[in-house]
Amino acid sequence: MFDNLSGKLDQAFKTLKGQGTITEINVAATVKEIRRALISADVNFKVAKDVTDRIKEQALGRDVLISVKPGQLLVKIVNEELTKMMGGEKADFNTKGDPAVILISGLQGSGKTTFSGKLANMLKKQGRQVLLTACDIYRPAAIDQLKVLGEQVGVEVYAEPENKNALEIANNAIKHAKATGKKIVIVDTAGRLAVDEQMMNEIEELKRALNPTETLFVVDSMTGQDAVNTAKTFNERLDFDGVVLTKLDGDTRGGAALSIRTVVEKPIKFMSTGEKMDAIDLFYPDRMASRILGMGDVVSLVEKAQENFDEEETRKLNKKIRQNKFDFEDFLSQLEQIKKMGNIKDLLGMIPGMGKAMKGLDIDDDSFKPIEAIIKSMTKAERANPDLIDGSRKKRIASGSGRTIQEVNNLMKQFGDMRKMMKTMNKMGGGKRALANLG
Ligand code: GDP
Repeated sequence: MFDNLSGKLDQAFKTLKGQGTITEINVAATVKEIRRALISADVNFKVAKDVTDRIKEQALGRDVLISVKPGQLLVKIVNEELTKMMGGEKADFNTKGDPAVILISGLQGSGKTTFSGKLANMLKKQGRQVLLTACDIYRPAAIDQLKVLGEQVGVEVYAEPENKNALEIANNAIKHAKATGKKIVIVDTAGRLAVDEQMMNEIEELKRALNPTETLFVVDSMTGQDAVNTAKTFNERLDFDGVVLTKLDGDTRGGAALSIRTVVEKPIKFMSTGEKMDAIDLFYPDRMASRILGMGDVVSLVEKAQENFDEEETRKLNKKIRQNKFDFEDFLSQLEQIKKMGNIKDLLGMIPGMGKAMKGLDIDDDSFKPIEAIIKSMTKAERANPDLIDGSRKKRIASGSGRTIQEVNNLMKQFGDMRKMMKTMNKMGGGKRALANLG
């Protein structure tokens, strides 16, 4: 995420690193570079200027803090200012109401339907009763798409494919929700390729008549300044409650995320980082700023782990590790759990310092495929007792999985090293204590 911007900011801080004090001259040079970095990340020009002016003012105002190195101090100031720029605090998302109505607006292709499915999934996981409603009266395919997503996440989808009146469909959906005890109705609406009068009138009418609890505007972050301009236009007509930034997993430069809040004066409430139904997150400005600055986001990482790691599984696993019985079956189920947490590169980027190291590295879920193929080609007995795997078994596993003997050997070696490490940990007792705390 935002690799390019992170790299350029890092470069800008280097100007100050190694210098003993902050002076007007070295700050001016660094701030100029920060401004350039922001503008080349497609941040709105005025926003970039205002924020760098503030950074400069702060840096010069704090030169009394000589105990902190100037480079570090500036990183801290930039972190604070980027956080403010993106809204400061996490914004609330209101789901009170009977039912609460969440209206989803945005251009076609921005990711509205996908987001509707993800939001339904997120709320359902929190134990809420949700109903998805297909109000795209122009594209029958959009109705089918929502139905598929609804089925995937186990949430009912209300649709009337023959009806061409979006408001009527939405009202019927609300009635249906009341009758079936659903507490939240998510209304996916029609979008157009570009802003046009008819679409605006329609969504305006929906908003007026439905009086939604939350109106969200979904925007593709890859479109940079266009995203900011579209948000502005929608907001003037809709006065929406919050923004959803999608496709942050892609090659976005970051401009939309950084400028939308300041320009439109509406908070970013959610971010979407992939096509899978669990690639949705609440938007935390401070965590995003840390990630942009390559400082990682350990809090989100831990939260993701807690959400996705099955407690019972973890307990069982800890027991096996303590008894030196960790086997390939466990290894495979660990891989599955990690994959559930989302995009691997994104996850690694949450570890402080890893962002930079990851730059240009091509890692995704597919990177696990060879390992999975090899383990899946082992027999049950081999997975449970890796010591069984001799030369001829290795040959069979390699040809069964379509991988080379070398790859099988590498995996065996890595696995062996892992087990050795676990054994040492157990012997030292420290590991036992650490694991006991977990399980
Ligand atoms: P809509 O026309 O606004 O309803 O947009 P869709 O939900 O159909 O999304 C358009 C395309 O973007 C689809 O191919 C989605 O799979 C894809 N998409 C949506 N959100 C994301 C995201 O966060 N990341 C990525 N990589 N793709 C996304």
